[in-house]
Amino acid sequence: MGRGDRLEHHGRGTDVKSGLTVEAIPARCYYALRPQERPGCQLTATVAYGTTTLCSACQRDRSTLGKGQSPRPLPSTTNLDALALLDQAHLEFTRAAGQLPAAIARARQHHATWTAIAAVLGITRQAAQQRSKAP
Ligand SMILES: [Zn+2]
Repeated sequence: MGRGDRLEHHGRGTDVKSGLTVEAIPARCYYALRPQERPGCQLTATVAYGTTTLCSACQRDRSTLGKGQSPRPLPSTTNLDALALLDQAHLEFTRAAGQLPAAIARARQHHATWTAIAAVLGITRQAAQQRSKAP
C-alpha cells in the first residue's frame, strides 16, 4: 500500500476535476511538530525564508535572526488541519519504521556490530536484534 492509497482512502490527495493524481499537500510550518515551542502555530506555511517555511503566526513570532532576509510567499493552498498533520506524521512514522529492519540489515552487511547498532538506536543489543526482523 502506497501513500496515494492511504490519502485516497481519506478522501484527499487527488484532484477530481483534472483527474490528476498529483498530491496537493499544503506546506507545513517549520514549527508544526514543535507544539511546546510554538503553541499558536497555525500549521500551514504561508512564507519561506530560504528552506524554512513558516505560518503567519510563527512569522510574527520570528526571532530577530535573519530579519534582513525577505520572505518568499508560498502559493496559498487549503489549510493543513491538525488531523491532517497527525496523518502525515503517522505516515512518516510507518514508513520510517518499515525502513528500520532494512537499515539494520545494511549496517550488518557493512560489518557494524550489534553494540554499535544498538548505540545508534538508543536501545539494547537484544532490542536491536528484535527490530532487525521485519514486523
Ligand atoms: Zn507555525
